[in-house]
Amino acid sequence: MRLVFLGPPGVGKGTQARKLAGARKLAHVATGDMLREAIKSMSGAGLKAQALMEKGELVPDHIVIEIVEERFSKGDMKAGFILDGFPRTIPQAEALAAILAKQRMALGRVVYFDAPDSVLVTRISGRRTCKKCQANFHVAFVQPRRPGECDHCGGELFQRRDDAEDAVRERLRVYKEQTRDLVGYYTERKLLVRIAANQAPDHVFAELMRAVG
Ligand code: AMP
Repeated sequence: MRLVFLGPPGVGKGTQARKLAGARKLAHVATGDMLREAIKSMSGAGLKAQALMEKGELVPDHIVIEIVEERFSKGDMKAGFILDGFPRTIPQAEALAAILAKQRMALGRVVYFDAPDSVLVTRISGRRTCKKCQANFHVAFVQPRRPGECDHCGGELFQRRDDAEDAVRERLRVYKEQTRDLVGYYTERKLLVRIAANQAPDHVFAELMRAVG
């Protein structure tokens, strides 16, 4: 199973990707998480990416493409994968097509998760993320059993800087300007399936399972 998850920030793609990857033993490749790791280790790419990410802007294509290309050299991709947060621009989609062609692989489906802006802003600005395993919680909707602590690994929960309200608005603007073009790109290639993400996570997951088979 080779999938791309597409959709605006806060739509719940990460949560769904983690669940599906666990259920089907797929590699979960989240470029946002990979960039945040690169920043922690203070590599060159990390330093350049940090300022842009904190403002809610996209990191330059060549940096992200290089990270994804390197990820494809690892053996676990052969068993199937979910790309979560990549591609985000048409040049990235074209680079992905070239990487897959080189590996003699083809995408199975591109899953487009959709929800209205008002829902996205409420979801993102209340989101709290685990520092250790990246699981997401929400101050109102998905509270952890113990305040400030991850249910899965006990890690500390925090608010990502780009989840603050002004950065969220910028991320939605960037999404509309750049990432939404990909819906057309993958529709033309007959790969796109749409999922209504404005419902409870379990319902979204059930719809996802039906869509990917
Ligand atoms: P995410 O965790 O997917 O919401 O990504 C967080 C931030 O990482 C984004 O707002 C971008 O600044 C950066 N980022 C993640 N994936 C990409 C990508 N494919 N292209 C450019 N920037 C990205």
